[in-house]
Amino acid sequence: MDIGNKIPNEVKSVLESLRKAGFKAYAVGGAVRDILIGREPKDWDVTTNAKPEDIQKVFPDSMYENQFGTVGVKTRSDSEAVKIIEVTTFRKEGGYSDFRHPDEIKFADSIEDDLSRRDFTVNAIALFLEDGEWKITDPFKGSGDIEKKLIKTVGDPEARFKEDALRLMRAVRFAAELGFNIDSETFSAISENADLLSKIAMERIRDELVRIIMSDDCGPAWGISCLEALGLLRHIIPELRDGIGVSQNKHHIYTVWEHNLRALDYAAKNNYSLEVRLASLLHDVGKPKSKFGEGPDATFYNHEVIGARMTAKIMKRLKFSNKVIDKVVHLVRHHLFYYNVGEVTEAGVRRFINRVGEEYIDDLFKIREADRIGSGVPKAVPYKTRHLRFMIDKVKKDPVGPGMLKVDGSALMKELSIDPGPRIGMILSILLEEVLDNPEKNIKENLLARAKDLNKLTDKELSGMAKKAKERKLEFEEGLEKEMKKRHKV
Ligand code: ATP
Ligand code: MG
Repeated sequence: MDIGNKIPNEVKSVLESLRKAGFKAYAVGGAVRDILIGREPKDWDVTTNAKPEDIQKVFPDSMYENQFGTVGVKTRSDSEAVKIIEVTTFRKEGGYSDFRHPDEIKFADSIEDDLSRRDFTVNAIALFLEDGEWKITDPFKGSGDIEKKLIKTVGDPEARFKEDALRLMRAVRFAAELGFNIDSETFSAISENADLLSKIAMERIRDELVRIIMSDDCGPAWGISCLEALGLLRHIIPELRDGIGVSQNKHHIYTVWEHNLRALDYAAKNNYSLEVRLASLLHDVGKPKSKFGEGPDATFYNHEVIGARMTAKIMKRLKFSNKVIDKVVHLVRHHLFYYNVGEVTEAGVRRFINRVGEEYIDDLFKIREADRIGSGVPKAVPYKTRHLRFMIDKVKKDPVGPGMLKVDGSALMKELSIDPGPRIGMILSILLEEVLDNPEKNIKENLLARAKDLNKLTDKELSGMAKKAKERKLEFEEGLEKEMKKRHKV
């Protein structure tokens, strides 16, 4: 086997140093699996019979990281994958009473013991150098499973999932990332023990889910269906399951569930960000709750509002950061937007940008595309979207939000010699609406002059005008949405 040239020099040197000091040393885990598959390893793990204090003696530039006997060896390499090589003493694990953490960790004497505690056969292969030749130790036939593209537990699957229920998720994650299937006995054991997932911290579940969603090609959509088939999804995003079997209307050939998966699939195949993938998966999560009627004319009014609320709840439960939550919720909330050449004015496009935020526009287009392709009956709209893009570029330099007005609150207070208070806010919102209609009015002197006029109005008159400005904005947005909903029955 000619794998020697795929092993980074830093790893060779760590293995050599341990061997010269009289210890056994093996590369193990994900990196060995990836090398055998022909993928690029993300990081390297080494296991040895040397105890942590011996490892530290062999590598003075290292840090003893945790209670698990892992020493991080610094290599001074520039490459992320081998900057730090984790060297761990052979281990075996004692009993498990909490479905996740072994009650105690014991050092083991042999590499076979160490490999037997690992989760899946493909992750339980050891690579070592002997008499100048690279060899593998593979007591659980992981290389055979690599050839068969199978994820299979080391030893009795029931027992292994009962020991550590996070492995339920890891099985699906590895299968999604590697494009493998799950061995049938392992599959049954996951199904039978799926409810153990409730013992696992949401953060850990989320980390695995993110890896499924960020996997390549068809991995994400396959992974979500697989979580469902195994009975795991109901512990993660049960809301998605409500779309199973829910038919749509004449604009769709797929059920809500299938449509969501196809939208995710499109986003993944185009290598879009985590946020766009999540928003594609969740964009129609509100549809089952908002469905009205049956057959070709069924409607889903307000599903984007309901869906945005559900998305926030789901993502909070999964302990995503607020930054990611806010972005995905906003994308779901605004994924429906109507545009027809000739019908929407420049002022309308400015209000659209003001409403959704310029920084979200690219992502919204991506989700729109995922939605369109995922419907199974993509209409010929690219001309419309190209035109909207053109309009957006055209009006982008125009003021589209309060920040782009040529005057701000403090300039107004100075010019009008008034104190901070509601009048300033009302004058600003009237000015903004006027400028949205006529960007050429956005000149400081004009705005100040107009503000002076407005300031002559009584509180009541001014608030009347501000209210009208706000209504105008709402009317515009609602008008658009109504029109769109009428046409698209959504
Ligand atoms: P990747 O680095 O791509 O996530 P990996 O296989 O290296 O894949 P890690 O989570 O880094 O996965 O774990 C390294 C190795 O440790 C695994 O290959 C496996 O042998 C073992 N391992 C990790 N977590 C578990 C677990 N929960 N149960 C049993 N063995 C595990
Ligand atoms: Mg790893």
